[in-house]
Amino acid sequence: MGRTSRERVLLAFEKAELDALISALWDLGYTVIGPTVRDGAVVYDEVEGAQALPIGVVDDQEAGAYRLGQWDRETYFAYTVGPHTWKRYLFPPEERLWRARRDEGSAWQVVSEDQGPVRYAFLGVRGCELAAIGVQDRVFLHGPFSDSRYRARREAAFIVAVNCTRPGRTCFCASLGTGPRARGPYDVALTELDDLFLVDVATEAGARVMASLSSRPATRAEIEEAERRLEEAGRHVGRALEVSDLHDVLAGQPEHPRWEEIAERCLACANCTLVCPTCFCFTVEDVTDLAGREAARVRRWDSCFVLEFTYTAGRPIRRSIMSRYRQWLTHKLAWWVDQFGVLGCVGCGRCITWCPVGIDLTAEVSALRASPGAREANDG
Ligand code: SF4
Ligand code: SF4
Repeated sequence: MGRTSRERVLLAFEKAELDALISALWDLGYTVIGPTVRDGAVVYDEVEGAQALPIGVVDDQEAGAYRLGQWDRETYFAYTVGPHTWKRYLFPPEERLWRARRDEGSAWQVVSEDQGPVRYAFLGVRGCELAAIGVQDRVFLHGPFSDSRYRARREAAFIVAVNCTRPGRTCFCASLGTGPRARGPYDVALTELDDLFLVDVATEAGARVMASLSSRPATRAEIEEAERRLEEAGRHVGRALEVSDLHDVLAGQPEHPRWEEIAERCLACANCTLVCPTCFCFTVEDVTDLAGREAARVRRWDSCFVLEFTYTAGRPIRRSIMSRYRQWLTHKLAWWVDQFGVLGCVGCGRCITWCPVGIDLTAEVSALRASPGAREANDG
């Protein structure tokens, strides 16, 4: 059950208590997923204690570039966001839906795959990522069909949000109202200061977890310092996306020459869709073993950049890279609003950072906006 803002008092706890927070979540039966460094990137994985977190790690991001660095401060959440998103836990990249087996001379037996939901606690969810979970909720929970697997994981999840105090150069959350402040829904939200965390406890579940920690009410000076850092963070969000008129700019120019110019650079590698926290397309495959004794139905992430994605009646519909990029961007920023009532983008910047050729959707939208000649030609 949520708590009203009138009941909410910001608490403070020392950084040494972060370990106790993680232990409390494990003790309550959650599998704690948080940030950790692997292969030169901040990724999400199981974390058993605060030592697994990216202590003193900062990142530097640009279009097609990502580098980690180290500073001499004891920070746990000074990185921005990496290539992983929380969707890999709520909507896994690959999932067996059911399997069946038969023994010599017997009929097929369907074997249940229902293991019960894993109870995840997500540690370090940023404002843009909360918004992305909200977008996927609309797709998997509130559309014409509800996905029972997604629902089970989502309803069991405990969310520790973190307000961003160091946004990256590819972020544009401020333009979309999704960050750098975490706006919910979350159970608790942390703001990292020099020696302590401020905590906004939003739910009864959050209060239960906080009860096992040594905390105290935050002082006025601490609250003002947190506000100052968040306001400063808002001024350092690296990019911007003008959203007025966006639907018409995207949907109204299908023949704009800019689409062909992008296609000359785009590799159709699908990276942008795989790192995107809102993209939800999947395919379903039936597989068997060579002996014909086992069969399974598997769901896997798919991407609109893959040629086979639109394979219908003997051929792909979107054969050119131009048509696939155009589909992706217009779906994100125009058709998604028609379908789900929100943009399909939350401004996390991942598709810009992890595009191997540095294609930047904010720059592409600006280019589509800035050439009225093309719009007139299209009108004609
Ligand atoms: S489209 Fe790009 S910036 Fe927008 S949510 Fe997806 S990855 Fe993030
Ligand atoms: S826009 Fe970039 S990341 Fe996306 S498919 Fe093209 S080359 Fe790959």
